[in-house]
Amino acid sequence: MDTDDAAWLSPGDAAEIRSSLTAQFAEEFGHGPAGVWFAPGRANLNGEHVDFHGGRCLPMALAHGTYVAAAPRTDGMLYMRTLEPSLDAGVQQVCISEVTSGPDADVHTITDEQPCGWTKYVGGTLWALRALGEEIDELAVDESFGADLLITSTLPVGGGLSSSAALECSAMLAFVAMATPLGRANPGAALDAALTDELRARLAAACMRAEVEMVGAGTGGLDQTVSLRGRAGHLLSLDCRDFTVERLPATGLLADHRFVAVDTGQAHWLGDGQFDDRRADSEAAMRLLGVERLRNLLPERPGTSDVAAVLSRFDERAGDGETLPSPVDGAPARDRAACRRRLRHALTEMVRSEELHGFLSDEELDAESTAMLVGNLMTAGHASMRDEAEVSFPAANTIVETAVEKGSPGARLIGGGFGGSALLLCRADDVATITGAVASACEEAGHQTPRFLEITPSDPARAV
Ligand code: ADP
Ligand code: MG
Repeated sequence: MDTDDAAWLSPGDAAEIRSSLTAQFAEEFGHGPAGVWFAPGRANLNGEHVDFHGGRCLPMALAHGTYVAAAPRTDGMLYMRTLEPSLDAGVQQVCISEVTSGPDADVHTITDEQPCGWTKYVGGTLWALRALGEEIDELAVDESFGADLLITSTLPVGGGLSSSAALECSAMLAFVAMATPLGRANPGAALDAALTDELRARLAAACMRAEVEMVGAGTGGLDQTVSLRGRAGHLLSLDCRDFTVERLPATGLLADHRFVAVDTGQAHWLGDGQFDDRRADSEAAMRLLGVERLRNLLPERPGTSDVAAVLSRFDERAGDGETLPSPVDGAPARDRAACRRRLRHALTEMVRSEELHGFLSDEELDAESTAMLVGNLMTAGHASMRDEAEVSFPAANTIVETAVEKGSPGARLIGGGFGGSALLLCRADDVATITGAVASACEEAGHQTPRFLEITPSDPARAV
């Protein structure tokens, strides 16, 4: 694969990034960092818009991610700077005692030019760790703890590959390492081993809280879970009812095939309400059907006939009205047909996840058949994102159609939608042809120039 081409985003070399970030940190803050921590982004093979409904997701951690160099302070202040060119406005400061819950809480001093104010993700992460430390002694945060932080990322920001979770999870590890009894007892890389899967699950939930309660994004925990609990060479099969994970080897699938992510260059902002709008539609359907989460409407091993049965129950209950009551008391009613489409997306996406879990666990299936079966479900997932969830957009559709036309076994939009990235499965020998055709098709259609990332299932957040 020709990763020298400017169109390819490289994950970089961790040791090199560590040393240049350390040098820049010393220049910025006048002293060295206590360490550098990394957390990966993620690509999701299937399971979009279903984590918060208890569905199964099949994500993998990437080699691309976010690096945080940090040193502790004793004045309860966070001084932080991001080197991400589109967001860098010099050092920003946050007084951690002023961080309170709620999307409107003023936890950042950055001007409102940037959607969401990125410092909320970091301030929110420390706030959530403090709350967790009240329950788990070894994660108790020192009262006066603060930190200097310098941040850089090899992910596209707002590109649907979860730069937000990578930011939260890398900052989380830095905070745990510097501020808690567990971190002090396990310096450097020892912390990676000390963080059991159970503790990582608790930290992932805290990072999710930061994003939901501080930023106001309706994320369901998928991104944070894979960033903290992924495994090299594996896909996670994440049951979002209880966040239990199984790790399924990707060796067969990736024997002759490769995953490529295509960043459309069209940033999406989960904070701006469209994602929440789709979620509200599906929650209105959920209310109508009288369940606490949509996954409860399907049996353990669901199939398409189970989806049809739920949809006819929906039709019966919805009657002839054009709207359904909002899931939020007092908010405007939701369009009935739209709610039904969101419901159908969620249910079929859940069925696809269960089928994929089956294919990837089936040791009898040969590599070629696995790739074909997985690919078909990816493309079906895209159609559902486009027609039922209605979160796709022209560039993503061009990319998926072109890839499939050029012989990709399957391709789809991943992430929340309204911008972001597509994931392609390609025979290793076809990668250059397919990505070349995708780039040309985007140019012809007048879309932004896409950037490509080779997706290698990688290890989770760690000290560098
Ligand atoms: P995604 O997670 O798919 O990349 P989101 O909209 O969820 O997209 O998150 C993007 C937001 O996360 C950015 O607007 C910014 O606030 C924050 N963010 C992500 N990466 C960085 C970074 N390297 N530096 C500063 N902020 C970041
Ligand atoms: Mg995100």
